Amino acid sequence: MSALAAGIATLDARQVRKGLDARDFSAVELTSSALEFAQVENPQTNAYLTFCPERALAAAERVDKKLASGEDPGPLAGVTVAVKDVIVTRGVRTTCGSRLLERYVPPYDATAVIRLEQAGGIILGKTNCDEFAMGSSNENSAFGPVMNPFAPDRVSGGSSGGSAAAVAQGTAVVALGSDTGGSVRQPAGFCGVVGVTPTYGRVSRYGLTAFASSLDHIGPFGRTVRDAALLLQTIAGRDECDATSAFAPLPDYLAQQNGDVKGRKLGLPREYFDGLSSESAGPVLKGVELLKKLGCEVKEISLPATKYAVACYYIIATAEASANLARYDGVRYTTRVAADTLSDMYRATRGAGFGAECKRRIMLGTYVLSHGYYDAYYLKAQKVRTLIAEDFRKAFAEVDAIIAPVSPSPAFKIGEKIDDPVEMYLADIYTVTGDLAGIPCMSVPCGKTAGGLPVGMQILTRHFDEAGMFRLADAFEKAGGFTG
Ligand code: GLN
Repeated sequence: MSALAAGIATLDARQVRKGLDARDFSAVELTSSALEFAQVENPQTNAYLTFCPERALAAAERVDKKLASGEDPGPLAGVTVAVKDVIVTRGVRTTCGSRLLERYVPPYDATAVIRLEQAGGIILGKTNCDEFAMGSSNENSAFGPVMNPFAPDRVSGGSSGGSAAAVAQGTAVVALGSDTGGSVRQPAGFCGVVGVTPTYGRVSRYGLTAFASSLDHIGPFGRTVRDAALLLQTIAGRDECDATSAFAPLPDYLAQQNGDVKGRKLGLPREYFDGLSSESAGPVLKGVELLKKLGCEVKEISLPATKYAVACYYIIATAEASANLARYDGVRYTTRVAADTLSDMYRATRGAGFGAECKRRIMLGTYVLSHGYYDAYYLKAQKVRTLIAEDFRKAFAEVDAIIAPVSPSPAFKIGEKIDDPVEMYLADIYTVTGDLAGIPCMSVPCGKTAGGLPVGMQILTRHFDEAGMFRLADAFEKAGGFTG
């Protein structure tokens, strides 16, 4: 077991399976070690809000039983998973990073959670995040920020900062996050791991606490492309419980990772490289050079509507959020602040429970939807959203994939942007576009800054072409691209 404990932080899904098959360790042994390791490491980052040892060990026992009886234990057998705390888990507290839900224990499981456990995955716990997934730094969590595993005075990124940090620290093999405007890709970039935002509708949103429903995605994290693709494979596909989940057939992502990317046409959008810090540009451009060496053809393209993307996103996302957050009224789900009248109770509960960023978004969203402003803001933003999607459609007529930075700069200092929400919003410029268009996109590590901070490179492809995206990312990883 000590050999296991020593190597636990770097195990990938394939090694887990090999160890189980060879009886080097049982799933229960692995899970116990992983829980112990995660609990010891957690104070360094504050990545987990809740551990669920009983659930984890019960899942591990099921895997061991299947192995003992010669039954297939599933593609994720024994693989430890951290789950962002906006994804509901039956019987396990789900806070959404909010004081309001500090004691909320959901009565059901999200579809993604059910599927990953059916595949043999072991959920160790729930990870810290910005309140209701609103933020880019994890500083909006009611339970404190998540520290970057590479630099404790810096942010892990947000809003899925806990999931990204857990995978980077090695306290889980893979993790689930959610992405509405970049919340999987941006923390993945800041923490040096792989983060995937699938096509809108590829993964069921059933059980994902709603932030902005037309933009919300569940997405996987892994230390390797293969692990992230494997997790996506197990959770993707049509689900009757989510009317927006797609019927599109689910290809075998792993089978297509054959390293052959010769002749793939890649586009570099001009608008994504202007204004990029040199610290981030260096590793990304080096990554592009490597892709060229692998036989890809690279050309410059233009996505002219990019300049409107942040404004467009923060109108649509806040409009939808203002409606979705109306359910936290003190009657259902949340802790309640008592008052003499019903409306006073609503006011007192929401006033005390929501953090500053949620309140800001409820006000902004209510404003852009209000009579007299709806046409000027909300309707206009919907039209701009169409332009952004059109930009991508035109680009994908010429290229197979788009390569871009993930964020204008690497992980910033904790506290650096917290008093300037607009500055914080502007840092989402390169990630919100993919969500607005609903296309698959991912962040892969592409090296570090001189100061040792990870930098991410973004890959975007056509709707439902996750397989093409993974193939490119996997070839990049195998060619040594992750270390720059
Ligand atoms: N940073 C963006 C926001 O604050 C994106 C969040 C997300 O993707 N959940 O809205």
